[in-house]
Amino acid sequence: MSDIVKQRLRLTIHGAVQGVGFRPFVYRLATDLGLYGWVCNTAGGVLIEVEGPTAALQEFLLRLTRDHPDRAVIYGTEPLFLDKAGYTEFAISESLPGEPSAWIAPEIATCDDCRRELLDPGDRRFRYPFINCTHCGPRYSIISRLPYDRANTSMHRFVMCPACSHEYHDPGDRRFHAQPNACPDCGPNLELWDSSGQVLSKGDAALCQAVGLVRDGRILALKGLGGFHLIVDASADSGVELLRQRKHRHGKPLALMFPHISSVKDACYVSPQEERLLISPAAPIVLLRRREGFPAISTGVAPGNPYLGAMLPYSPLHILLLNDLGRPIVATSGNIAEETICIDEHEALRRLGDLADFFLVHNRPILRAVDDSVVRVILDTEQVIRRARGYAPLPILIDSPVSSILAVGGHLKNSVALSQGRSVFISQHIGDIETPQSCEAFSRCIRDLSQLYSIKPERVVCDLHPDYFSTQEARSMGLPVISVQHHEAHVFSCMGENGLQPPLLGVAWDGSGYGTEGTVWGGEFILVTMEGTRRLAHFAPFPLPGGEAAVREPRRVLLGALYASIGLAVFESQNAQFLSAFTTSELAALRQVLERKINSPLTSSVGRLFDAMAAVAGLGASNSFEGQAAMALEFSLPPVTTEEAYSFQVLDKGDDVPVIIRAPLWAEVLADRQRGVPTGIMSARFHNMLVDIIIWAVRRSGLDRVALSGGCFQNRYLTERAVTRLRAAGFMAYWHQRVPPNDGGLALGQILAAVRLSSGKA
Ligand code: ZN
Ligand code: ZN
Ligand code: FE
Repeated sequence: MSDIVKQRLRLTIHGAVQGVGFRPFVYRLATDLGLYGWVCNTAGGVLIEVEGPTAALQEFLLRLTRDHPDRAVIYGTEPLFLDKAGYTEFAISESLPGEPSAWIAPEIATCDDCRRELLDPGDRRFRYPFINCTHCGPRYSIISRLPYDRANTSMHRFVMCPACSHEYHDPGDRRFHAQPNACPDCGPNLELWDSSGQVLSKGDAALCQAVGLVRDGRILALKGLGGFHLIVDASADSGVELLRQRKHRHGKPLALMFPHISSVKDACYVSPQEERLLISPAAPIVLLRRREGFPAISTGVAPGNPYLGAMLPYSPLHILLLNDLGRPIVATSGNIAEETICIDEHEALRRLGDLADFFLVHNRPILRAVDDSVVRVILDTEQVIRRARGYAPLPILIDSPVSSILAVGGHLKNSVALSQGRSVFISQHIGDIETPQSCEAFSRCIRDLSQLYSIKPERVVCDLHPDYFSTQEARSMGLPVISVQHHEAHVFSCMGENGLQPPLLGVAWDGSGYGTEGTVWGGEFILVTMEGTRRLAHFAPFPLPGGEAAVREPRRVLLGALYASIGLAVFESQNAQFLSAFTTSELAALRQVLERKINSPLTSSVGRLFDAMAAVAGLGASNSFEGQAAMALEFSLPPVTTEEAYSFQVLDKGDDVPVIIRAPLWAEVLADRQRGVPTGIMSARFHNMLVDIIIWAVRRSGLDRVALSGGCFQNRYLTERAVTRLRAAGFMAYWHQRVPPNDGGLALGQILAAVRLSSGKA
């Protein structure tokens, strides 16, 4: 019998496989095995049909799963064996028209092969700052619509030269179907401008001149992959200070870019896990513990902060710049304060003209702003703190399919999300929606995401806060609106990414979120059952004298917390030590405000408790950015801490009324302060108390699983101690890994909470 049974294998692959060299890989694999058929892009992935002997098809399936390109994210593979169709060749077919095609790949850091060519004087792309291949380069930032073909990217204006075109059409070439493929003869190029837009130099000369300027301590605006960076020599104290002044960024750490991994290790402690993240294709900013006394970093980069935000050069332009400089640079977002990052060189001249001395620009348009992502390692796993370049807009896969819903997120650290089936596409970090410019960016991002994925949302979910810009926008869309309480959204976000079903206890701690009875929430224990959600417990509310202004002044927060605890006694002389932070007239005014309950909203926020604690411990005179005082308190923890904890009291009035937790007992804290207990020990006793309260709450709930969410759980000590102690006590603990615990993760939770609300459950 010469007849070997031939069959056809139809393989549906779900995943982010476009723009990562997946179809060329399938082509090579099929050709290797002598199989005929075709591969094409489809909605949500790739469809393959191959035909041949069954054993070869099994081998194909195995090798496809095992050897696929690193950057392909595969969520499911559905093989179906059919009768043969009689194919006579293997072809890469056009994309299927109609429905939205596959997910869009994020930006991918320059691969080793491209890096080698970039630095090889014999290569035709030697020192060409736009080198890329199917394994690396820009993606999300250059695509205008799906499918991901050159005509649908901002590279469409560049006509490939014969050499590039040959690579692009050769299935055996690393640049086969590399959409941004280019070379010095046919692709984008560099220019150096002064701050009035005058061209000073072009091409490699522009790069060399820019290097010299940075070396001289000048501030350079550099058009990168997903937007502009503001760059200054990291060792130049005056340059770093000047950048801070011009950017209106006081105190908040600045990100650093290092020439290579060994230079990161000179400045910081790098665990294998952290190293993996630094050199990963996403190449995020990784928060690393710094080494003492490393001289090449100005103290102005991250004042009083034991961590540095470090990244490696991820585009060829960054590689060349850092290679030539040979020293770390500050590479911070090209924006003022918390606005959206600049992407266009003419816009940059307008918006950054007063910030930067020179502009290193190019003519490959960036179609959307994608900021650098920020991650840290907690409990030996990655926690994404800011989800943007390298991550967006990949979906988070959820357990069961949902209808198409748009979630508009919150107000600060905003990002939005769109659901379709089991995918929730989370936008890149948009920022704080505080300026007309960021409002516009927010609206643009919603339009952009729904157009790219061709998703028409049936409903929109927003926060309960009536005054948020995002809430108002949601209400103006002409769609059914669902409002979700802020902290419930946090808890559902953590449940969503961990695939958790009720019942469980949600612990949602952050700076602030709109509560349901006129108070500001932020220290919440939320019971999630199949029947619904219930506020099991919360911290005792205290007044914030002066409202929003108090948030920038931890001493005011402390005054409010003490007033709630001991009343007018707070103004008596035994508290002179901390009262001296105020002038006599300030004290008189604040006393009036508190007594008459004027502009003194009540809050149960743990974020504010951190502020109050920082103030009493002598840290955090001001909060120039959100979380500054809380971070100072975390950073003050000594390496070897204490097991001691401050006490707390519970006011338990029975099942249907939320339990009120009084903590810390300020008498203990003030006594510590009076006795001169070191700040770090006070900080540890405070952190430890918070974990004791979590343990108490889960016991009170009668459940065995806890989801930790909200910005407070960016605090590594708090999260690690909570999880460790919960596990030791026999409970299961979950925290954020793929989406931020802060408000950047709200949109995912809003979608999941809305689905439960509208299905009549939870
Ligand atoms: Zn490459
Ligand atoms: Zn070319
Ligand atoms: Fe929040």
